[in-house]
Amino acid sequence: MVMIFFGAPGVGKGTQAALFSERMGYGHLSTGETLRAAIAAQTDVGMQAKRLVDEGKLVSDEIVTKIVEEALHQPKFQSGVILDGYPRTLGQAEALDAILLKQGRKVSVVVNIVVQQDVLVRRLLARGRKDDNEETIRERFAVYEKETAPLLDFYGKVPNLVKTVDGEADIEEVYQRVKKAIGV
Ligand code: AMP
Repeated sequence: MVMIFFGAPGVGKGTQAALFSERMGYGHLSTGETLRAAIAAQTDVGMQAKRLVDEGKLVSDEIVTKIVEEALHQPKFQSGVILDGYPRTLGQAEALDAILLKQGRKVSVVVNIVVQQDVLVRRLLARGRKDDNEETIRERFAVYEKETAPLLDFYGKVPNLVKTVDGEADIEEVYQRVKKAIGV
């Protein structure tokens, strides 16, 4: 099982991905979390990524794809993979297909969580992460629209792969909606 949690900043991808991981026993991989940890630890990757993450811009496809490729070899990802915040560009989606192909796997489902933008802005400002200030939020939405949203067309070519879920409800309700949408 390879699940992609997809959607604009603040839709609840990370929260739902963590819940699914806990309850279904699949490995959870958040490229954003991995980058924030690398920045905190001041690794080479962290140093390269810091400014881009702070400004709400995308880190290069090479860096994030390497993170994903290395992680997917770990035992905790053998039973299943939950991707949160990756892929975010067409290049990443193609790279992911190639990585999975080598492992004899493919994307099982894309969970597209949808929430109105004004609700998202309120949620992000309340969350208060370093990159959750108004200017960065605006940039992250712009990047999402330009680079990431088009992936819905890419994955939409595979019949029944994309499951769209209304994410405007409490965490447990959204969890149930996702479960129902993917039929588990
Ligand atoms: P997130 O935690 O998913 O909101 O990601 C936070 C930030 O990390 C993003 O605004 C980007 O700067 C960077 N990032 C995370 N995932 C990716 C990715 N797949 N491609 C490029 N940049 C990423």
